[in-house]
Amino acid sequence: MNQTKYIFVTGGVSSSLGKGIIAASLAKLLQARGYRTAIQKFDPYINVDPGTLNPYEHGECYVTDDGAETDLDLGHYERFLNVPTSQANNVTTGRVYLSVIEKERRGEFLGKTVQVVPHITNEIKERMQQLGKTGDYDIVITEIGGTVGDIESLPYIESVRQLVWELGENNGIVIHLTLVPYLAAAGELKTKPTQHSVKTLMESGIKADILVCRTEHELSSDLRQKLALFCNVKKEAVIQSIDASTIYDVPNLMLEEGLDRVALKKLDLAEKNNPDLKQWNEFLFKLKNPKHTVNIGLVGKYVELQDSYKSILEAFIHAGAVNETKVNVISIHSEYLDEQTAAKKLSGLDGILVAPGFGGRGIEGKIETVRFARENKIPFFGICLGMQMAVIEFARNVLGWKDANSTEMNESTPYPVINIMEEQKNITDMGGTMRLGAWKCHLTEDTLAYSIYNKADILERHRHRYEFNGKYLNEMQEAGLVTSGVNPDTGLVEVIELKDHPFFIGVQYHPEYKSTVANPHPLFVSFVKAAVKKKSE
Ligand code: GLN
Repeated sequence: MNQTKYIFVTGGVSSSLGKGIIAASLAKLLQARGYRTAIQKFDPYINVDPGTLNPYEHGECYVTDDGAETDLDLGHYERFLNVPTSQANNVTTGRVYLSVIEKERRGEFLGKTVQVVPHITNEIKERMQQLGKTGDYDIVITEIGGTVGDIESLPYIESVRQLVWELGENNGIVIHLTLVPYLAAAGELKTKPTQHSVKTLMESGIKADILVCRTEHELSSDLRQKLALFCNVKKEAVIQSIDASTIYDVPNLMLEEGLDRVALKKLDLAEKNNPDLKQWNEFLFKLKNPKHTVNIGLVGKYVELQDSYKSILEAFIHAGAVNETKVNVISIHSEYLDEQTAAKKLSGLDGILVAPGFGGRGIEGKIETVRFARENKIPFFGICLGMQMAVIEFARNVLGWKDANSTEMNESTPYPVINIMEEQKNITDMGGTMRLGAWKCHLTEDTLAYSIYNKADILERHRHRYEFNGKYLNEMQEAGLVTSGVNPDTGLVEVIELKDHPFFIGVQYHPEYKSTVANPHPLFVSFVKAAVKKKSE
């Protein structure tokens, strides 16, 4: 196949309809039919990337192997497809403008007036085709963030219109995701918002080829007919997307509705084989038929918003399925934990995870949490800031260094056991300047970490500025802290653990970003296993 085919996914009526999950599910089905499929997301905000966004604004910032800080939908793409994404898979308006303005400063537009059309739209179109042009993919799905009709989406919608036209018949199609609300008072599903949303799209010159309708109730045949007639699509192209108990059901639901077949037909591509979802369905079966249940505390400061810890929650779903265990994740706000309340709030848990984070809010609660898990021999898992808190707790309570801290929280601590990295010291720009992306780590044999990974050399993704301060390495080791993973090039400590504890591990990196349905992360799998064991004792 030489011509890469393009599918654009737009959204209407409301945000949060789950475009990312629909895109990922369709990609999963196409991949399972044997098509090499990529997904990318174009976001309409002006931040160059979401790295500078507070998690309360936009949920978790996802990180790819190449160190891109991206929208959390890329996490879904990886979890569904088991294919790594990169910077090319996520573009924001800020990035587009930055690049156009840089070109303008270099004089590349040769005296022309630089405008939204054609300069911004050309830049968008180029980026939309970047993955396709590598020749690595048969089909590229592009999710357009935001809702049609929004001022900020206009350049993207215009770019899609031009591109569909340029690509020609059967090479580019548009899927429009809308909401079909149920009015309880009338006892009816309503199609009007969808009609208006399709009309808005049409005003921009785009005809939707397929409608995916989010709904809480089944769409009747009559209603589908009505939507088809008024929205100008074939009846078979009206796809129902009914609320599911888990996002991992959506590929099967879309298969039943024929979304992949309709899309292939529109793209003039063969259906090939029936999608091979054997491994996927085995995972689903285990997920839905657990033999055990565990309660795991997730201690963090952004716990009010589920999306802040998206990848961690998903990694627990994957790891739970492997262990045939339902993992109840109990969110605990670190800000409201102290010596008095910790025992009350944390007892009864089968495992405790201390979450990543930035800044001082809630850190004393996190340190208290680590102490509770260490002393009471509760399986403990610290990620990034969570690992740093474990180091501080050890310094304070095992070595007796009372005011030990990270210089992120207290620059004049007498024991800066966590310190700013040397190369970070003179950095003033906040965006894209952390230690980011995949880094090597070497694990020592005969450690918990080694036994979990079952190999010595691993690659894991990072996103932080501070690190274990090597100055205290010897004293900490002598007191019993095991540094089981180290970066082979820089000597930076990446993994710490404790002996005489059933499961106590802290990692400077973010294993949650690499957990997928096909490849659940071994650290999460082992942690859940330890929690199951703890519960049975
Ligand atoms: N704030 C810490 C640092 O920058 C930890 C970051 C994180 O948890 N991702 O080093």
